[in-house]
Amino acid sequence: MNRAKAVCDRVYIVGGSGFSAPEDAYVYLVDAGSEQVLIDSGVGYGIDRIEENVRSLGFEPAGVWHIIATHCHIDHIGGLAAWKERYGPKIIAHELDRAGIEGENNSLTAASMYGVDYRPVKVDTLLSGELQELMLGDLKFNFLHTPGHTPGSISVYIDTKDGRVLFGQDIHGPFSPAWGSDLKQWRVSMQKLLALKADVLCEGHAGIYRGEKVGKYIESYLERYQA
Ligand SMILES: [Zn+2]
Ligand SMILES: [Zn+2]
Repeated sequence: MNRAKAVCDRVYIVGGSGFSAPEDAYVYLVDAGSEQVLIDSGVGYGIDRIEENVRSLGFEPAGVWHIIATHCHIDHIGGLAAWKERYGPKIIAHELDRAGIEGENNSLTAASMYGVDYRPVKVDTLLSGELQELMLGDLKFNFLHTPGHTPGSISVYIDTKDGRVLFGQDIHGPFSPAWGSDLKQWRVSMQKLLALKADVLCEGHAGIYRGEKVGKYIESYLERYQA
């Protein structure tokens, strides 16, 4: 297993396949100065490794005051309940994926696909609409609604010394009617992401893309799932 890895100014990988548990989507830590923010939380049982990785960077897990759930799939939200019990961070997610995260509809989480039980958690800050901004620590987080993979999928971007960093978890799909996937909406969402002209893309399963590879990566999926 790897230890945490620096991505660019402010951003580190602290979880994911090879970092915490094989089923975990990448978990990113953003250093927002007076607090740290996690992007997603993995499937759940890798949480001790994630904490160790946070500590290996010189941060404390208790310094994570917010966790952003990019969408309601178990490989992203399975660790939320344990984090909340241990350290009490506030959970941020889009209102259209709330039912999955809060346990009202378990099929939305894809938990059975992973053979794990999901422990629901309450969302503290519900996002709605197209774009919302929140100051967390000393950084402005931009939450862009990018439905398609799930109805409440969000992409998050921040501006750093290394340029614009985009967290686009699961922008590659897959798609399933069981989760309310919508390819037509997804294509519109991908155009929104291209328009951001991000310098760094932190993806949920594919890892890190930089420079012109960011746009090429998104475009390659648009070609694969043409109308
Ligand atoms: Zn995923
Ligand atoms: Zn997903």
